[in-house]
Amino acid sequence: MEEKPCVFCQIVAKRIPAKIVYEDDFSIAFLDINPANAGHTLLIPKQHFETVADIPSEQFKELMDALKRIAVGIPKATQSEGLNILQNNGEVAGQIIPHVHFHLIPRYKDDGLQLGVLRQGKMDENMMNQVVEKIKSAIPPKEEKKEEVKIEEEKPEEEKKRSEEEIYLIRRELELT
Ligand code: AMP
Ligand code: ZN
Repeated sequence: MEEKPCVFCQIVAKRIPAKIVYEDDFSIAFLDINPANAGHTLLIPKQHFETVADIPSEQFKELMDALKRIAVGIPKATQSEGLNILQNNGEVAGQIIPHVHFHLIPRYKDDGLQLGVLRQGKMDENMMNQVVEKIKSAIPPKEEKKEEVKIEEEKPEEEKKRSEEEIYLIRRELELT
C-alpha cells in the first residue's frame, strides 16, 4: 500500500499552497490553516523528522535560530502582547501532523484562548527526587561537533625574509628617532 504523503513535506515541495512567512535552506514557516489567533505560525524543518528527538543537533540549532527570529517578528507584526511557542511530540501529546513543528501563537489580554492546564497537581518529594535522577541519567551527552580542520598556510621563504627585513628597518627607524 502506498504511504500517504506528509502534508508538511508537500508544503516544503510547494506541491500544496501555504502562506509562507519565512524560508531558509533548512527551515520554512507558514500560517496555520486553523489559527488560534491571527498570525499563528508553524515553523518546520524542511527535512521530514517526526519529533524533536529525531533532529540532528546541528540542524536543530538552525531551526532554533529561525524560531528565535520569527519570535521577534510575529509580535512586531501583530502588535501582540505575548507569544506562546508550543510543540507537540507524539499522538498522546496532541501531535496530529507527524512532521515536527513549532506553533508560534500571538497572545492578547482577554483573547479567550485555552491552551490546556499545565499545573495539574502536586507530587511528593520522594517521587520528585526519583524522577529527577532518572531524567538526569537519561539525557544523552552533547553531540560531538565536527572539528573544522584549519591548515596554517606556510609562508613562502621569500616573504618570511622580507618581513624580517621590514622589522629590522622599523627597529632602525625607531632607534634613530
Ligand atoms: P499539531 O496538533 O501540533 O500536530 O498541529 C498541527 C497543526 O497543523 C494544526 O494546528 C493544523 O491547523 C495545522 N495544519 C494542518 N494542515 C495544514 C496545512 N495544510 N497548512 C497549514 N497548517 C496546517
Ligand atoms: Zn513530512
